[in-house]
Amino acid sequence: MRRKLAAGNWKMNGSVSALDMIGALKLKHPECPCDVLLCPPAPLLTHALQNSASNPIFIGAQDCHAKESGAFTGDHSAAMIAEIGATHVIVGHSERREAYGETDVQVAAKAQAAQAAGLTAIVCIGESLEQREAGDALDVITSQLARSVPDGSSGKTLVIAYEPIWAIGTGKIPTMEQIAEVHGLMRIELRARFGADADNIRLLYGGSVKPGNAAKIFALDNVDGALVGGASLKAEDFSPIIEALA
Ligand code: PEP
Repeated sequence: MRRKLAAGNWKMNGSVSALDMIGALKLKHPECPCDVLLCPPAPLLTHALQNSASNPIFIGAQDCHAKESGAFTGDHSAAMIAEIGATHVIVGHSERREAYGETDVQVAAKAQAAQAAGLTAIVCIGESLEQREAGDALDVITSQLARSVPDGSSGKTLVIAYEPIWAIGTGKIPTMEQIAEVHGLMRIELRARFGADADNIRLLYGGSVKPGNAAKIFALDNVDGALVGGASLKAEDFSPIIEALA
């Protein structure tokens, strides 16, 4: 049985005071039936971990370098993220693939580094609007999944987030049939590669998840939660999404 996961990606938003929402979430969901994860910007991680210390709310980073250390100005390693007590790291978000040219191979190397450091890697994949309109979405997903996920991954060390690029921050979402189709495909592909353990790997949907659409998305087979951007910035928006997973 896969435990549901509500994961918030703050991107380059937030502040130390905005982290107060961790306490607010704890008050609203004292016995949360799902896992809740917040991924604030790297400079806020230590504060977030202090706020979450007595909360069952996980804290993760938004990226890591594939190497353990070295001359990589501005980067941070998976071991550094793990050392401060964070538990997850997002890798391969489409914003990083687009803005920094990250390839599937690089994403897999980051995910592998994260797993080696004891972190759970949240590997993001998703098609562009052009690819969706050309009828290539399923091929793109199959290829990204195969190439961005490292060998040896398991339900403990891997979460996949399906995030159609055209749905991120746009208010547009795929049809329920399209989401179900992609999640079903990902499950089949993961089973072919990882066998029975693939059924322990959580599959998140991401892209304009809001309080108003969360419940119908979460009702779909193989949707084990969401990676949420904008609606994870305020407790009043993120909380109903958590509730929809209950
Ligand atoms: C994201 O950036 O991962 C995301 C899903 O953003 P939003 O929820 O704002 O579309």
